[in-house]
Amino acid sequence: TQAILLASRPQGEPTANHFQFETREVPALTTDQVLLKTRYVSVDPYMRGRMSDAKSYIAPFEVGKPIVGGVMAEVVESQNEKLLVGSLVVGNLAWQEYNVADGAAVQQIPADKAPISYFLGLLGMPGLTAYFGLLDICQPKAGETVVVSGAAGAVGMVVGQLAKIQGAHVIGTAGSDEKVAYLKELGFDEAINYKTTPDIAQALAAAAPNGIDCYFDNVGGAISDAVYDQLNKHARIALCGQISTYNATEVPVGPRPEGKLLKTSAKLQGFIVSDYLNRWPEGVKQLTEWYSEGKLKFEETITEGFDQIPAAFLGLFKGENTGKAVVKVA
Ligand code: NDP
Repeated sequence: TQAILLASRPQGEPTANHFQFETREVPALTTDQVLLKTRYVSVDPYMRGRMSDAKSYIAPFEVGKPIVGGVMAEVVESQNEKLLVGSLVVGNLAWQEYNVADGAAVQQIPADKAPISYFLGLLGMPGLTAYFGLLDICQPKAGETVVVSGAAGAVGMVVGQLAKIQGAHVIGTAGSDEKVAYLKELGFDEAINYKTTPDIAQALAAAAPNGIDCYFDNVGGAISDAVYDQLNKHARIALCGQISTYNATEVPVGPRPEGKLLKTSAKLQGFIVSDYLNRWPEGVKQLTEWYSEGKLKFEETITEGFDQIPAAFLGLFKGENTGKAVVKVA
C-alpha cells in the first residue's frame, strides 16, 4: 500500500518536504482484524502539533513512521464477526491507502444519516468540539453575544450555527470576503474579514454594541487581544485552538489578558474534545437530529487523490478550506 510518512520535523511552517511517500506491505489479517480501504482522510490543524516533539496532550508522530489521523474507510476483508465486508468505519489510522486494524480500534458508522465524510466533520471530531466547547463551556443564553474566531472552518461554522440555535447574537471572524459572505448566508449576524479590516477592535465594537459574553477561540493572537478588551461581566471563553501560533518559532508575546479576565469575572477554559469522550454519543445524536431537521448546515472542501493529502493539510495554514478539509482517496 502507499503510505505517507513524517520525513522530518518542521521548524515554522511545514512544507511538502516534511512528508515522504513509501510503498509498504499490508500484513495478513489475524483474529478480529479487518482490512480497510481508505475512502476519506481528514486533515486537521492539531496534527501540526504532532509533527513537533514538544510535550503535549498527545504523543508526537515519529520520524520515518506513517502519519496517523482521522480516516473513513470501508471494510474489504474481515476476520471480525461484527464488521462485515462493505461496512464503513472511522478511526485513527495511518495515512495509507489500506490499513489493517483490530475491530475494536475502529467505529462503525451508519451510511444513511448524512454524507459519509461528515463523520470526519459535522458528526465527528470537529462537530463534537463545537458542540461541547460551546454548549458546555460557553453556555450562551438567548440574547447574549458570541464571538467565534476561525468561524468559516470545520469547528467554527458549527459553533456559530449552534449559537444561533441558542438564540445568541453571533459574530465570526474569517480570512476572506468569500468566507464572510458565506457566514452571513449561514445565519451569522456579523462577520469580519480579519485580514483586510484595519482595526479589528473597532469592527468588533461595532458588531457587538452590547459587549461580548462568549468567545469561542480557534485562532488566538491579535483577534483574541481585541476580544478580551470587550468582554462583559461573567464572560465565558472556550479556548479551543490557537492556529495563529502553531507555526511560530518564537514564544508569541502580546497584551496580558489576566487583568481583563479578573475585572470581568470571566471564565477561561481550555479543553480537548477527548475530555468529553463519555458524552460523545449524546453529541452525535443531537448534531444528527439538528442536521436532519435542517437546523445545521455543513460544508466541506474536498481535495481528490491520496497524493494530495500533504497539500490539503498545508492548505489549512493558508486558509484554503471553507468548512471541513477532507481528502477523497477512493
Ligand atoms: P479549520 O477548518 O478552521 O481550518 C483552519 C483555518 O484556520 C483555515 O481555513 C484558516 O481560515 C484559519 N487560519 C489559518 N492560519 C491562521 C492564522 N494565522 N490566523 C488566523 N486564522 C488562521 O480547522 P478546524 O475547524 O478543524 O480547527 C479549528 C481550530 O480548532 C484549530 O485551532 C484546531 O487546532 C482547533 N481544534 C481543537 C480541538 C480541541 O479538542 N480543542 C479539536 C479540533 C480542532 P481563515 O481563512 O479564516 O484564515
